[in-house]
Amino acid sequence: MTRPAVLVTNDDGVRAPGLAALARALERDLGAEVTVVAPDREQSGASHAMTIRSPLRFERVAESWYSVEGTPTDCVNLAIFHLLDERPALVVSGINAGYNLGEDVTYSGTVAGALEARILGIASLAVSSAPDASAEDLDAVAAIAARVAAEVLARGLPADSLLNVNVPPAPRGIRLTHQGRRAFREGLIERRDPKGREYYWIGLAPSEWEPDDGADHAAIAERYVSVTPLHSDMTCHRAIPVLSAWGLERLVPGSSR
Ligand code: MN
Repeated sequence: MTRPAVLVTNDDGVRAPGLAALARALERDLGAEVTVVAPDREQSGASHAMTIRSPLRFERVAESWYSVEGTPTDCVNLAIFHLLDERPALVVSGINAGYNLGEDVTYSGTVAGALEARILGIASLAVSSAPDASAEDLDAVAAIAARVAAEVLARGLPADSLLNVNVPPAPRGIRLTHQGRRAFREGLIERRDPKGREYYWIGLAPSEWEPDDGADHAAIAERYVSVTPLHSDMTCHRAIPVLSAWGLERLVPGSSR
């Protein structure tokens, strides 16, 4: 059997313990030929940002390990178009220190790394753990990620889809879920610096989820692994019949198709 080529990236940076745990498990459990290409520093919240106004540089830090002065999206592009000899069979992004649930997937650099791979035509998954996962927890999360990755390699994924996998400590099982929704989030956290000036932290205020048994957050709350298929096509297909009834053609008269 030939060893599948697997690219691993993350948004927590090249030194994050979750990245090493994931690479190890994919090598050990899948016999994968793993190449790690990750940001040189933390890029959490970078979402799908791409570096287009400055040069992109990288450094080889070990055999098949590269550190990139850029975002997860930059890493995937640099890997696929420059660093790797062959297109990988799979891209795995993670293990993020902290779950990526509900609308958080839109801010997540971890999910964006997997999304970029999908857009480039490669099967992919994003993997996230509890924010306070220990080294042992991370090894367990990585082993579960490797099992899911093996399924993806064996079966492929439906067109335009990628998987968002969240793994709690000591899971009771695994659930196929959909993306949840936040019901409520406090705005900003306000503090004062030593000079008495106000400053703000965004994204750290407490939040609540809309109750939804099938959602990703419900699975995590009940200590199940959550596997959510995401879509690289952001079209809202449900809105097309509604908008079609608006008669938008009136706004810009011209010949119709
Ligand atoms: Mn992160």
